[in-house]
Amino acid sequence: MAFDLDFFVIGAGSGGVRAARIAAGHGAKTIVAEESRIGGTCVIRGCVPKKLYVYASRFADDFADAAGFGWSVGSPTFDWPTLVAAKENEITRLSDAYRANLAASGAELIEERATLIGPQRVKLQSGREVSARHVLVAVGSRPTLLAGVEGLEHAITSNEAFDLAVFPRRLLVVGGGYIAVEFASLFQRLGAEVIQVVRASNVLRGFDDDMREGVRAAMARAGVAQRFGILPRRIEKRRDGSLRVTLSDGEDIDVDQVLVATGRLPHTQGLGLETSGVELSPHGAIKVDDNLTSAVPSIHAVGDVTHRVNLTPVAIREGHALADRLFGSGAKPIRYDTIAHVVFGTPELGSVGLSEAEAVARFARIDIYKADFRPMKATLSRSRERTLMKLIVDGSTQRILGAHILAPDAGEMIQLVAVTMTMGATKADFDATMAVHPTAAEELVTMRAPTARYENGELTP
Ligand SMILES: Cc1cc2nc3c(=O)[nH]c(=O)nc-3n(C[C@H](O)[C@H](O)[C@H](O)COP(=O)(O)OP(=O)(O)OC[C@H]3O[C@@H](n4cnc5c(N)ncnc54)[C@H](O)[C@@H]3O)c2cc1C
Repeated sequence: MAFDLDFFVIGAGSGGVRAARIAAGHGAKTIVAEESRIGGTCVIRGCVPKKLYVYASRFADDFADAAGFGWSVGSPTFDWPTLVAAKENEITRLSDAYRANLAASGAELIEERATLIGPQRVKLQSGREVSARHVLVAVGSRPTLLAGVEGLEHAITSNEAFDLAVFPRRLLVVGGGYIAVEFASLFQRLGAEVIQVVRASNVLRGFDDDMREGVRAAMARAGVAQRFGILPRRIEKRRDGSLRVTLSDGEDIDVDQVLVATGRLPHTQGLGLETSGVELSPHGAIKVDDNLTSAVPSIHAVGDVTHRVNLTPVAIREGHALADRLFGSGAKPIRYDTIAHVVFGTPELGSVGLSEAEAVARFARIDIYKADFRPMKATLSRSRERTLMKLIVDGSTQRILGAHILAPDAGEMIQLVAVTMTMGATKADFDATMAVHPTAAEELVTMRAPTARYENGELTP
């Protein structure tokens, strides 16, 4: 059967753009369709603008720290519209670069919504229908809104937070995941009074418990007012434009914005997947096999739409591997066990591998190495910041199973620790590596004795 195309990609985000470029490079006739801005979540309303705003927010700490080093900086002021405009310039530049790279690869870009109308047939919003030997669904995810909150239409999600016309002086952040933590931390530093309400008893479910506690404490030190076991019940818009929020404990609080960051779900509604025979999880994620192929052999999925590890580098690596497998000479296997996760609060949290609790549940003997210290810079700045580092080691083989760092630039450090773990590093390898002095990272290679030991799930004395 003849097809119009070899490859139709729905979604020009991290995964879709990479897959389209690599496929076109292998000679596949490729179209990628995008309904919004080229570059997807990461470039337009995720990682990139977020990190730019995190940088902006950290000047607050730098100004405060400077006095201890002899500087006097007066009283700094912050202008939100300047930051928003600078961010907009940068993401437009990046989006244009994505567009140029796609064009250079030979893939065609169509700026329209696309839906599936069969296993090898796609319909564009204009009505045009296209057949393709393979279809990649790389439509990403979207923020979820909390059910059961009256007046939720007055709340915003991370999508809107980047471009608010007016800086929110009082902000309620709902949620305890990494996006909620990052936004609470950065808006507080930019000058907002932030209240964060979290349904659970701490932030960052799924991360190592010591690190969760370290992040919570760092946020509290920065002035974020955190409330646990609490949710909003009602949001009422007042005459002056402010919002009155009634919390589940009955308290009313007045704020300028409510930012709901309670999770993200695959963007699969109305895509025509059900009628094509693609199997979806209860959350709407496309179920794929090890080859990133769905229950329908011609339909594939990568990135957030599979709702497995929702990170940009994962979407990119998956898109690349899929295109290599379908149109090149085969794909390299993807390692999912040494993916580092970073929470860009201040300080940053970098984590790779197992948490203490996960390791203890899975391995008979576990050694824990932990360090908790005042970073060198804080000696003169007199900030109350703490640095935490933790290695989780298999007591039988001495292999490093997990590493967790709460420190300035932890994202940079954890990347390299992840390399060592991919290579199968042991505690002895860390011990044999000479320290870099004076750094915080040297602590990773100078932790001598375990701070805790587990045998068959029990702490040993
Ligand atoms: C606030 C925030 C911060 C984040 N920070 C980080 C971080 O620091 N590090 C990190 O690694 N990850 C981060 N992420 C996650 C990261 O952005 C995603 O994992 C990544 O973008 C997923 O790539 P993707 O290709 O699966 O989807 P996306 O990048 O979301 O791309 C999907 C694209 O498909 C388009 N689309 C959807 N439906 C259709 C349709 N029917 N037709 C045409 N086009 C369609 C969408 O408009 C979108 O452009 C963050 C996310 C958010 C929201």
